Amino acid sequence: MAWKTIGQPNSIDRISRAVVLDRLSHAYLICGMDGIGKVTFAQDIAKVANCLEMPKSSGPCGSCNQCIRIDSHNHTDVFIYDVKKDLDEVGRTTTMVTIDQLREDFLRQVHRKPYEGRTRIFIISSIESMRSEQSNILLKTLEEPPDDVVIILLARDASNLLSTIVSRCQVLNLDPVGELEILEYLGECELGPEVPIQEIAKLSRGRPEWAYRAAINPEILHILEDKLNQFVGCLIGSLEQRFKLSKDLSTQFFRDRDGVYEFLDIAMTWTRDVLLSSSERAGDIVNISHKERIHEFSKMLSTTDILNILKLIRMTLGNLRKNVTPSLVLDNFMLKLPVATSLT
Ligand SMILES: [Zn+2]
Repeated sequence: MAWKTIGQPNSIDRISRAVVLDRLSHAYLICGMDGIGKVTFAQDIAKVANCLEMPKSSGPCGSCNQCIRIDSHNHTDVFIYDVKKDLDEVGRTTTMVTIDQLREDFLRQVHRKPYEGRTRIFIISSIESMRSEQSNILLKTLEEPPDDVVIILLARDASNLLSTIVSRCQVLNLDPVGELEILEYLGECELGPEVPIQEIAKLSRGRPEWAYRAAINPEILHILEDKLNQFVGCLIGSLEQRFKLSKDLSTQFFRDRDGVYEFLDIAMTWTRDVLLSSSERAGDIVNISHKERIHEFSKMLSTTDILNILKLIRMTLGNLRKNVTPSLVLDNFMLKLPVATSLT
């Protein structure tokens, strides 16, 4: 068997059982964090639905003509749309779905018979970004799915989606993958010796595709590093510096809110590392290449300060998600952030 999905034993088991019983659903909704492997899992489903070894086996063989063509994105019955981005998680080119495409391309394709395989597969990514007109087009198809078609919707989580869409799909929730499993996966990826796979596995926090992207593209770790330095700079910086960053972040928020969430996320991970370091659990820290600096800060901040920072980050994230004015939220964050002072 050749599942490319890393981890996810429960979801794999559900699909395997459905295939063996010839009961694949016409619609699945795969939920999970960005970088956890939703596209890969959807493609694994595309393979089990078309693999020539099925249903003798409970997973795709990975080596028949069908599996190979799906893996290389050359299968004429497998379509990948992304509602939001024009590049998906692992850099494959996918098309951005406009209303016209959904109406014309998707609706035209979905009613055709399979051309080279048994089942036509439509993978639609980032469906939380769908507008109502797009949702309606999709809903009509989900209400009366054609035979020989499996529609696979991908989203971060089901809570923001129309209940009429969710109720017509079988929901598969992808769980964070264990650090050791990610490390083992990276070990098999034939990466250069210079790639810090241990640190990447820790930083990935359960997201194997994120880990792979970070391993093949050093720029990802550089961006994290920059954000980390900005946050650490704030802890020791003047109010002026803090407000400058707050202004930059609130400007960024309008075009790239994920980037701002990522900044706060990194701040959270790093502060937790300081807490672990101060409680003699330095072995558990995530940012292992910053061990010394983290130790230094564990001496400069009291435990109360560290706990307050964590609380403040959570509150800031919550308020940004609730659409409170970003400049207010971020100014408040900078004002309340404790100052780390050197003991010397
Ligand atoms: Zn196969």
